[in-house]
Amino acid sequence: MKNKLKIIERQNNVLHKLNEIAAISDITPKETLRRALKIGTKYFGIEFGIVSHIVGEDYTVDVQSSPPQTLFDGQLFALGSTYCKTTLEIDDILAIKDVTQSKYVGHPCHRDYNLVSYIGAPIRVNSKIYGTINFSSAEARELEYDAIDDEFMRLLARWAGSFLERQFALDELSLAKKQFEMLFENNASGILAIDEGCQILMVNKRFCEIIGFSKEELVGQNTKRYYLDDLSYKTARQKISNTDKHSYITLEHQLKRKDNKSIWCEFVGSQIELTKHNNAILWSILDITAQKEMQEKLEQEATTDYLTKLYNRRYFASRLEEEVFRVKRNKKTETSLLMFDLDKFKLVNDSYGHLAGDTVIKNFANILKKHLRKVDIVGRIGGEEFAMILPNTSIEKAIILANRIREEVSSQTTNIYEKNIKFTVSIGVTSLSYDDINSDTALSRADSALYMAKKNGRNRVEKK
Ligand code: GH3
Ligand code: MG
Ligand code: MG
Repeated sequence: MKNKLKIIERQNNVLHKLNEIAAISDITPKETLRRALKIGTKYFGIEFGIVSHIVGEDYTVDVQSSPPQTLFDGQLFALGSTYCKTTLEIDDILAIKDVTQSKYVGHPCHRDYNLVSYIGAPIRVNSKIYGTINFSSAEARELEYDAIDDEFMRLLARWAGSFLERQFALDELSLAKKQFEMLFENNASGILAIDEGCQILMVNKRFCEIIGFSKEELVGQNTKRYYLDDLSYKTARQKISNTDKHSYITLEHQLKRKDNKSIWCEFVGSQIELTKHNNAILWSILDITAQKEMQEKLEQEATTDYLTKLYNRRYFASRLEEEVFRVKRNKKTETSLLMFDLDKFKLVNDSYGHLAGDTVIKNFANILKKHLRKVDIVGRIGGEEFAMILPNTSIEKAIILANRIREEVSSQTTNIYEKNIKFTVSIGVTSLSYDDINSDTALSRADSALYMAKKNGRNRVEKK
């Protein structure tokens, strides 16, 4: 009974010391193990203490506590030449007071390294053999190893095992953290995490490059900071709240860089659960300004006539089609359509050349532009043929406008190569009707009014 109490007291004492060591945070894990080994060497009155790592036949000194110039961390031995091989074989404490007096006489460890006494225990990490903790000496021990010593060794081995386990878990965690940081930080897309209140939680390097603000200027701020205005901020928030929590949110919007330059960005986001009651949105962002500008340019080119910068025939026809259907839907709507054809234009070309003809066409287009209201739509629908849609305009008003344009054309002269060119225009006017099948029906009616204007002497306005 007394013996047992003594064991418990010694164990408690040792445990206490080990816990103290493990609690020290400003030393490396290796130093913590070394201090534990020092407790062992002191306890046994022995000079060598080792935590070994054993893989196959390789025995590596993980950490040692030993007299100077004898052993070093990382030193490699053949497992077969160590007492630890036997420790692993019996899978328990091996204690040798004096090898010459024991059944292990002639053991390679004695032969090769002259170690006479030894005590060691296997260390398990995550239930698998990791190596051993052992103490040894070139001297025989005076005292016999007893049950208390065995218990102490088991305690040390268990402590070392769980210490290493924790250490490996921490290493794994810090590796995972490093990998995450590497992926996050060096991602080719901008990455942004915001909370539900649109407060910025995290940004990566690429996003900072896109938006021109530094990390410090962004984290903790509201995303409003880089929106063009309140409206676009509200629209974005609306779209986020309307998107189903389980699907990706895709947004394209303009943002304002720190230097006030506006840029287009594509956002693809998904909701992530930070904690049970705390959601965030993780965005992946691309700067699509160049694509947008190219797209706008192409769209503009596809709808515009290169010479006059008016709409081209195809786009004009599509707008007329819309207008025809608007009239069909709302019978009270009065919309007028004007068609223009320059008079005797072949003569202009023949007399002054094609380039001069082009200048005349441009001048005429400029006159049309001058008479346009914001809602009116005008296009160049042929070589020297133009058409104009006047929404919500009666045919009478359209005729008045047509005559005004006709008069302005006939009264002006175009100076080309120091020659004054005069030209006139004939105009056909019609009203869109809910009977019109499509834009072609309306265009051909305006065309026949124009034909009448030509037939009746040109420089005229006729209606149909
Ligand atoms: P009309 O009074 O009957 O309209 O006589 P017109 O000579 O104008 O006859 P028409 O409208 O049939 O001929 C149009 C001419 O316009 C034919 C073509 O040589 C010329 N033309 C067409 N497109 C262009 C262009 O882009 N530039 C120039 N300079 N001339 C063009
Ligand atoms: Mg013509
Ligand atoms: Mg003509």
